[in-house]
Amino acid sequence: MNYTSNHSILVRTSKGMMDSFNRKKIIDSLVNEAKIDPKNAEEIALEVEVEIRHMDLEFVSAPLIREIVNVKLLEHGLEEERKIYTRVGLPVMDVEKMIVGSHWFSKENANLQQNPETTHKLIADSVIREYTMLRTIPLYLSDMHVRGAIHIHELEYFPTRPFCQSHDSRFFFKNGFIADGTGTHTAVAGPAKRAEVALLHALKVLQASQVNCGGGQGLHNFNVFMAPYLGSMSYESLKQLAQTMFFELGEMYVARGGQTVFSSVSLEPGVPKTYRDVPAIGPKGKVSGVYGDYEDESTRFFDAVMDVALEGDYMGKPFNWPKLEVRLTRDWLNNHEKEYLLSAKLAAKFGSTYYFNASAPYMPGEMVCTQCCRFYMQHSDWNDEEDLENGTLRGGVIQSTTINLPQSAYEANGNDDRLFEEVRARMDAARDISLIKINEVKKRLVDGFLPFLSQPVDKKPYTLDIHNFNSDGGKLKIAGSRSSTLDGTPYLEPDKQGVTIGTVGINETLKAHTGHELHESSDSWRFGLKLVDFMRRVVDEYTQETGVYFGLVQSPAESAAIRLAQMDLKKYSFKAVVQGNPKISENGSPAVYYTNSSHINVDANVPLGKRIAVEASFHPLYNGGTILHVFLGEAYPDADALWKLTHDIATKTLTGYFAYTKDLTICKACKSVHYGLLDACPKCTSTGGDLEHWSRITGYYQEVSGWNSGKKEELRRRYRYEIGKEAATEQPINAIASS
Ligand SMILES: [Zn+2]
Repeated sequence: MNYTSNHSILVRTSKGMMDSFNRKKIIDSLVNEAKIDPKNAEEIALEVEVEIRHMDLEFVSAPLIREIVNVKLLEHGLEEERKIYTRVGLPVMDVEKMIVGSHWFSKENANLQQNPETTHKLIADSVIREYTMLRTIPLYLSDMHVRGAIHIHELEYFPTRPFCQSHDSRFFFKNGFIADGTGTHTAVAGPAKRAEVALLHALKVLQASQVNCGGGQGLHNFNVFMAPYLGSMSYESLKQLAQTMFFELGEMYVARGGQTVFSSVSLEPGVPKTYRDVPAIGPKGKVSGVYGDYEDESTRFFDAVMDVALEGDYMGKPFNWPKLEVRLTRDWLNNHEKEYLLSAKLAAKFGSTYYFNASAPYMPGEMVCTQCCRFYMQHSDWNDEEDLENGTLRGGVIQSTTINLPQSAYEANGNDDRLFEEVRARMDAARDISLIKINEVKKRLVDGFLPFLSQPVDKKPYTLDIHNFNSDGGKLKIAGSRSSTLDGTPYLEPDKQGVTIGTVGINETLKAHTGHELHESSDSWRFGLKLVDFMRRVVDEYTQETGVYFGLVQSPAESAAIRLAQMDLKKYSFKAVVQGNPKISENGSPAVYYTNSSHINVDANVPLGKRIAVEASFHPLYNGGTILHVFLGEAYPDADALWKLTHDIATKTLTGYFAYTKDLTICKACKSVHYGLLDACPKCTSTGGDLEHWSRITGYYQEVSGWNSGKKEELRRRYRYEIGKEAATEQPINAIASS
């Protein structure tokens, strides 16, 4: 065929310029990008030119040419090549919906607020998600996500960011703070001399790291490490410092597309034993005694943070960030009941306190830190003596993947062996996803794409092995490796990171498999334990096999719990066991969900003691994080009663991590805050749009209007407990264990 032009076609290029059509450019791009041989490329390009000339357009755009080339590639049977050559992006009208009007449709994460940064984030998210599924994750794994067998969290950040990170502020107190990680792109700050600056450096670490990470950012032993800077500061000044922390973290919409940092600080009165003899880093980064010398300062700052949290913001509502993780350690009660009572008062008023029970018998002592939604890392596994002394005790989770357990039960049709096989197959997929993700993070570290996280913590050469994976036949194999050596150990040290595999819907799995929900029969409960125990043994096997720390976690599953339930409802119809109401729908999204992890159905009317005991019985089986939610009623519980309950949970049950949730109604008309989810303001009688409901979604507080339809339905159904009133009638906490 010889089809030559007698007029030139104008092309609007992707660089925003006009150019005349040149067939050679198509040929070159097919050869370079899709690796098509030149002869084939020439043939395709000519066919494309014929098509375009037939259309007789005034000009064509480069994207349109590419779309036509893609059709030709399919016609030539070059499907794999098309996947490489194709574009990723959004339909025009989808972008318009995000920019124009108030078509707010992303409920992926209730922390998102509609603002221009978020608009950019959502548009970018969809491009990277598509790219990830096409290029980063092999087909057999992306297929499992698309079929709802597993849920790969944060696909939008898969090739670019690790998940969450816990930080050691001592490293920055000692060396100063370099926000860009290199020091050449921004101002470099030396070691802080004063408390205010030390505090800001620690908080900015969270902000700088959030720019590199997709998930939560935490500071462990926050008040302890601040203590050497506090000297003789008055209590009022300490409160001012605490206030700076809440406003700095709660007001800056700085990262991940106009969101506040997902921040947490861990707090405890006094100084934990582990740190008592460790050299304390103080003003100008100099050693100033040992942390044991600062018991008083640490405790007073703990009190100041609690007092400021109790006051709330200017409107009287609780601060949403940072999450306050209060650690209950083994020698806690002897010395600090007064401080812990303050934390219980805060829990009674706002539910803000998260309790991490480091005193649980299966916890490996104090060297565990928590952050993000509930993840905890057990530093004792990672040879941490050096990091403890050096102030570089840090770690995080690189990737999280949730297993759709109920789907395994539908496939198993009541057969135990089959159920475990189905679960195992899903877990194997999650393991492969994790290994691919770690490899991606290593590549980004080497390429300098994670500048904050790749900043060196020492001058020791650090070698990273990077693999080429081959996934022929649906199995991940290493097809080749190369090593890259960095000049120093990177702040994010891949060997000290973990990955998590999460559970969702154990309650529905049990209903489908045994006929009873978790709280309905002790056989069902026992089978649940057997299932989680099986999963734990599998993750331990992965750890052995790969050298990567695999943690079994109770997934927060804010969006996974609804996505998987919706998909299964469609696929398995009457066989699917979902919670919520399929008839209620928001933007075409039915309000259904799976019960989180191994929790009891939220609306089960069971005594609190039984709820706690059953849920806690699962906690020792998880090595990556758990949470027990106690939903409180409208009444303001007595702080002493709540402290007693907290004490009982910590000492008489196996609970590892827990929080009390208070629902709040905020009246925008008279700027007042009330307990419960109310339809009218008790102060000014305002209704409707003047009121905003607030509660805890999975692991943080946020406005209910931003929640997805499934979570809203879950909130409506939560069975709430009145502490104090209930105590007399409730089943003793450990009764279930003996039943
Ligand atoms: Zn009002």
